[in-house]
Amino acid sequence: MAQIKLSNLRHSYMPAPKGPEDYALKEIDVTWRDGGAYALLGPSGCGKSTLLNIISGLLTPSEGRILFDDQDVTALPPDQRNIAQVFQFPVIYDTMTVGENLAFPLKNRGVDAATIKRRVDEIAEMLDVTDMLGTKASGLSPDNKQKISMGRGLVRDDVNAVMFDEPLTVIDPHLKWKLRSKLKELHQRVQATMIYVTHDQTEALTFADEVVVMQDGEVVQIGTPVELFERPQHTFVGHFIGSPGMNVLPCEAKGDRAIFEGHEVMLEGPTHGDGGRTDLGIRPEYVGFGETGIPAQVTKVSDIGRHFVVSAMVGNTPLKAVVEHNAPNPGSHVFLKFKPEHSRVYRDGWIVTEERTQ
Ligand code: ADP
Ligand code: MG
Repeated sequence: MAQIKLSNLRHSYMPAPKGPEDYALKEIDVTWRDGGAYALLGPSGCGKSTLLNIISGLLTPSEGRILFDDQDVTALPPDQRNIAQVFQFPVIYDTMTVGENLAFPLKNRGVDAATIKRRVDEIAEMLDVTDMLGTKASGLSPDNKQKISMGRGLVRDDVNAVMFDEPLTVIDPHLKWKLRSKLKELHQRVQATMIYVTHDQTEALTFADEVVVMQDGEVVQIGTPVELFERPQHTFVGHFIGSPGMNVLPCEAKGDRAIFEGHEVMLEGPTHGDGGRTDLGIRPEYVGFGETGIPAQVTKVSDIGRHFVVSAMVGNTPLKAVVEHNAPNPGSHVFLKFKPEHSRVYRDGWIVTEERTQ
């Protein structure tokens, strides 16, 4: 196992890139702690697979370095990096049995037969495929094939990291949930560095201790699920994580206040800088109702089961609130209260409100 460090990484698929828009990865500096459980989260096309392929060595970056502990591996081919990678679609040998497929990565490295049997049995049990060990892989359903593919990634215990690139895409929803909790359990058991790529916030937040959020070839925030929820560093993170996402409301900022649709809103702390597009960010969970406050008209109420999502208009700006009970009626006029400790100003997307210190 090793700590993996990406330093000043940039990558373009073009032979002569010019501006930043020609780069699939713009400027990446990330350190993946030895033994950490990470999710790499971002929308389709933001550069997640490019980043994984650079770590595993399938792709050489245009600029920057990759370090495993203190060893520079930038120029090393994949087979010398000792990384297990599980892809979006199953990669298995159809002519082999399930057991032979699982044994293959170990056999390939000259591991002794007794160890191979022990590891294969362990992994098969974990993935619930013990009764398929003798079956030819060619006849398996797509989700069983993918389970075997994941097993092949997990069977070695000497790798620097195990990376999963959206591995549950072909798996049906029920099994998805089961496999995800298995992976989490497995991580706790083996303590290998794991990087789990997904565009699905639920997958990321349940699997990872730390989530790396990417947008458009850049890392916008690295944090625990709680940090990403409570203090998004960028409106993109606020909007991408949470359901519904953070309200992003055009405003003006003055010291520790924002002026939103003509109403003064108390912020978490003072705001620095000026100019740029200025927005007030507040999660629907921290918008409440009161006897006084910001006047709004309710446009829609959705009963989500555990809570209500209330859509409302303040002046010309729509926003959402989440309440557990006593949802107002559609059409009614209400007063909104924003929790100051969760109200922050963002300039051109980035947070500019200082963290409140006690
Ligand atoms: P993600 O895995 O987050 O969906 P990718 O890393 O696959 O994103 O892609 C990032 C960007 O690089 C996209 O704009 C994509 O079109 C581009 N890209 C990916 N692979 C190639 C390739 N082999 N050649 C050219 N462009 C590519
Ligand atoms: Mg991808």
